[in-house]
Amino acid sequence: MKFDPATKIQDLLQFGEYGDVNPSITDSATYTFMEAKTMIDTFHGQQEGCFLYSRHWNPSNRYLADNLAAIEGTESAWVTASGMSAITTAILELCNAGDHIVSSITTYGGTFAFLANYLKKFNITVSFVDITRLNDVESAIKPNTRIIYTESMTNPLLQISDLPGLADIANKHHIKLVVDNTFTPMMIAPANLGAHIVVYSMTKFINGKNDCVAGAICADKEFIMALSDVNTGSAMLLGPVLDPLRSSSIQKNLHTLHIRMKQHSLNALYLARKFKEAGLRTIYPGLEDHPQHELMKTLMHPDFGFGGMIAIDIETSGKADRLMELMQIHGVGYLAVSLGYFKTLFSNSGKSTSSEVPVEVQKEMGLSEGLIRFSVGLDHDIEHTWEKIEKCLKIFQNEK
Ligand code: PLP
Repeated sequence: MKFDPATKIQDLLQFGEYGDVNPSITDSATYTFMEAKTMIDTFHGQQEGCFLYSRHWNPSNRYLADNLAAIEGTESAWVTASGMSAITTAILELCNAGDHIVSSITTYGGTFAFLANYLKKFNITVSFVDITRLNDVESAIKPNTRIIYTESMTNPLLQISDLPGLADIANKHHIKLVVDNTFTPMMIAPANLGAHIVVYSMTKFINGKNDCVAGAICADKEFIMALSDVNTGSAMLLGPVLDPLRSSSIQKNLHTLHIRMKQHSLNALYLARKFKEAGLRTIYPGLEDHPQHELMKTLMHPDFGFGGMIAIDIETSGKADRLMELMQIHGVGYLAVSLGYFKTLFSNSGKSTSSEVPVEVQKEMGLSEGLIRFSVGLDHDIEHTWEKIEKCLKIFQNEK
């Protein structure tokens, strides 16, 4: 039986301080103590269940973090003000100046920019590899390597990382496997497949409402405690804490995630098949011609499908721009970055969310300038959506 995040969250009951079925919202930056010694113990991480200061920990964030730990199957979690702060905080906690990281060359553009440009400040170097080639990953490891970094389903090429294979390499070399699971919550549970640390942009599917940015780090208790250590913790000292009001709204949305993921996946599979039938180069892990289709089947929970993300390649960015404009005018969805929303979103990756990646590197990783990435929404009548897309394709082809 596969690890089942949806049942884990079903089994979790949390109560607010007056028995509220939605946990009470913390609206305080600081907390009082009846005894001074308890404050000192809390400062030194020796007092569970007490709160000191909301940047350190706060009850609303604790509730959300406990939910995330349950769905990931990790001992603990910490919630952050954005996906990028989850990624950067986790990496800075693991690496010291002079260390080395092996990363998938295909990652979210912000992550790529952090790894390639920002970490230079600390003399931390990064080798970018094709993450689907385990031999290349292992060969890139050096004595000072601390992390293998990847995304379960990579942005925007939708490659699937062989997480058990990567975990074996990481364990053999006594380094950490850090996995961004933003594209595949519920369907892939990286910690269960060997990842040591799982990071999320909760801005996307987890929240699903496009009304805030947020992130999370899921890991063992020791790592999460280290993050919030008052003297050395990256989370405590860099301070990327999520606002408790936001935590409580994301917490409620988390409880519909399993239903939403099923519908995103059903709709995306339908559209991916239609795009392919229409003769467009289509990347979707649920299509049998996807290079990691069989691998994905071994990693995923079958109830949640192959995900809500599709990429099609229409060769040039000019053509991509025109088709996206048409699709917005005809009500398919929004020409916008981001993903995991109840409406369909589409953007030209090379010129938007991967624009931080230099053009020659985009070419090296196989990112075409005409790639349109779709985050398929929760449309009730997906055939109706396809009719609109078909109409746009016809107009577009007649214009050529
Ligand atoms: N990880 C992935 C896979 C993403 O697609 C993104 C944003 O698009 C991020 C991380 C960054 O998340 P945020 O925008 O919440 O900082």
